[in-house]
Amino acid sequence: MRHGIFGKFRSAIGSLSLLALLSSGDLLAGASGAMKPIVAYQGATLIDGTGADPVQNATVLLQGSKILAAGADIEVPEGASVVDVSGRWVVPGLIDAHIHFMTSGRIYTRPAMMDLRHIVPYEDEIKWVESHVPDTLRSFLCAGVTGALSMGGPSIEYSARDQAEKMTDAPSVFNSHGPAVAVPNFLAERLFPRWNGELTLKSLTSPEDAIAFAREAAANNASMVKTAVDDRGSMLFRLILDWLGWEEIHEALIAEAAKYGLKVTSHVHTLEYGRRLMELGVDSLQHLPSDQPVDEKFLSLARAKDVIIVPTMALHKRTFEELYTKEFELLAIEESCSIPGVIQSWHEPLPPSKDDADYLGSRREMVASNTLALYEAGVSLAVGTDAGLMGLSHGASMHLELKRMNEAGIPARDLIVAATLNSAKVAGKDDLYGSVEAGKFADFLILSKNPLNKIENLQALETVVKHGKAFDQQDLMPSLPAE
Ligand SMILES: [Zn+2]
Repeated sequence: MRHGIFGKFRSAIGSLSLLALLSSGDLLAGASGAMKPIVAYQGATLIDGTGADPVQNATVLLQGSKILAAGADIEVPEGASVVDVSGRWVVPGLIDAHIHFMTSGRIYTRPAMMDLRHIVPYEDEIKWVESHVPDTLRSFLCAGVTGALSMGGPSIEYSARDQAEKMTDAPSVFNSHGPAVAVPNFLAERLFPRWNGELTLKSLTSPEDAIAFAREAAANNASMVKTAVDDRGSMLFRLILDWLGWEEIHEALIAEAAKYGLKVTSHVHTLEYGRRLMELGVDSLQHLPSDQPVDEKFLSLARAKDVIIVPTMALHKRTFEELYTKEFELLAIEESCSIPGVIQSWHEPLPPSKDDADYLGSRREMVASNTLALYEAGVSLAVGTDAGLMGLSHGASMHLELKRMNEAGIPARDLIVAATLNSAKVAGKDDLYGSVEAGKFADFLILSKNPLNKIENLQALETVVKHGKAFDQQDLMPSLPAE
């Protein structure tokens, strides 16, 4: 058992005024009526996730799972436990705005994209994924990722959320219903093989389908609906999308989703589809146009409609280059937080690259320059990885994504907002998540180095606090399997 900073608990010299204020409401009483202890983290530099200036010698005051107050000059009530975090930095827990529980990050996980079924049959990969859900959830927390937005898939995306809710050492999971595509079933099935007989992509071929799909999302308690508008550079595909009326389908979906308070997010890789989707009213885009430079029309539309864009930069080099060349630029946190067996699989020899690798692998530079153009134009960005895709382990790949976005020219200060508050906004959950502010869930990280100096310092994780419960980061690392 490691103690770290928690060996330094001491009783605070109290302040009666805050206590009096607190007692007037129901804040001190839990559901049972019992008083939950108050904990004060004192002395760190607070970077609260809103983009505000860092606050030195700050106090973050918690009760149970919630933040009571955060900032300078906060009085600590008598009887509160005080944790001395002087010399450290506090930032909100990271939120990955694009993950899939259905994929493991192993090289066998998307046979339609990289076919290694002769080594690991897809049924075996599915079993691996299903049996590793708790480990996967814990690996998010190990990397300081306290929130994850599932971008859809089969029912495991929901069962992973339900398992996460029963665990303390797991991120909060917010689901997208979908992904939905405006293509007939037979095509949807070719893009993704079935999962235990279940279709992964939902085929929407009419506005009526779209309305039923939004209702299904609400019934599943999803936070978002997700669609994909992607012709993969194929004229035939494009004709099918137009023939089925993908725009009318989106119009109906966006209107119906609004009735249930669901956010709408869409996968795009081209400028034209991205622009049309924003005109139709989507809330966010997953990936970004990479067929051509983003133009002024696209940028002003994104700004005017307050669309959040999730560039997913890391996959281009890792999945479509490094997995083929076997020259990996691995982060230490990927090695310490990935489930054993994930990184090892990346060394498996690969068949020659397939269509997707050609389609996306070549777009790395355009993705970087467009991401920077969006940033410079003042468009809101969030940070998402597509974790679970081959080469991207759950949790740790968030740091790879941050590194790539930083290399593209986005400064650490804005990346912290993108990876916390803006990611929470994609799911419509910024009322309770994404920043270290009064009234929000107490999800934050204690770092030994200043992340404003260098984004890699987000990896200098000492403690991960999830809903008020503190974990020594080393205790969250997966244990090696017994030989
Ligand atoms: Zn994805």
